[in-house]
Amino acid sequence: MAKATVCLTYDFDAVSTWLWSYDSWDEPTRHSRGVFGAEVGAPRLLDLHDKYDVPATWFIPGHTIDSFPEISGEVWDRGYDIQHHGWSHTGPATFESEEDERADVERALDCIVDLTGRKPTGYRSPAWDFSAHTLDILEDIGIEWDSSKMASDFHPHWAYGGWSAPEDDAYDRGEPTDIVELPVSWQRDDWPAFTFTWARPHRMGYVSEDSIFQRWYDQFDWMYENVDGGTFILTMHPQVIGQAHRLMRLEALIQHMQTKPDVEFKLMDEVASDFRENN
Ligand SMILES: [Zn+2]
Repeated sequence: MAKATVCLTYDFDAVSTWLWSYDSWDEPTRHSRGVFGAEVGAPRLLDLHDKYDVPATWFIPGHTIDSFPEISGEVWDRGYDIQHHGWSHTGPATFESEEDERADVERALDCIVDLTGRKPTGYRSPAWDFSAHTLDILEDIGIEWDSSKMASDFHPHWAYGGWSAPEDDAYDRGEPTDIVELPVSWQRDDWPAFTFTWARPHRMGYVSEDSIFQRWYDQFDWMYENVDGGTFILTMHPQVIGQAHRLMRLEALIQHMQTKPDVEFKLMDEVASDFRENN
């Protein structure tokens, strides 16, 4: 086992995130931020990963695949993995019914199969949260691992289902399922710190790049020194990290990680398979 594993992941939301997440469809300047991700950010990231021969897992909503098929296909053709991120980038808990959620998940599945010729094995919730039906839906379509939860920082674990959070009694986490969880964190995500919007939600942005990247260096370095066999999972968005002043810092971070002995960059799918084999 490598001393440390790194998974660089991209949520290629493109325009989808400016539609359903903000309940707004006719704001072309917002749309253009997603277009930047598809036309400028994504190609730059592919070139960066090619340059350093570093694998990457791309979570691509079906809406992005349908809207930007060429660059979505290029992600796959250049050897990077594509996994499930919903069709419309709608938070699972905000669908009006289980049927609506299931239809969105199945539509996204079809998009990925059409693009890649194979079914996705992994899922990342667009809201990093689940409805009461999400796990069942994922199991029904053959998803083997998820990357939406935060119960651990550097270790994969089994995803739990059947939780209970009553107002007048103790919390019950539920029981482990057969789905592997590859944990995420808002601390290892580029969106909240860097993405300014006038509207709720996420009216933030303008955090110093140096402070956020320092956080990522610190987390990786601490894991490297203190956690045996830890996995560092970083979530980024082409329209955010693909800006020049961030891309240069991401390149330096990759170089930093590559200078450490016994660090392995892997696809999320490989990490999930390794965990399943050993547990
Ligand atoms: Zn997303």
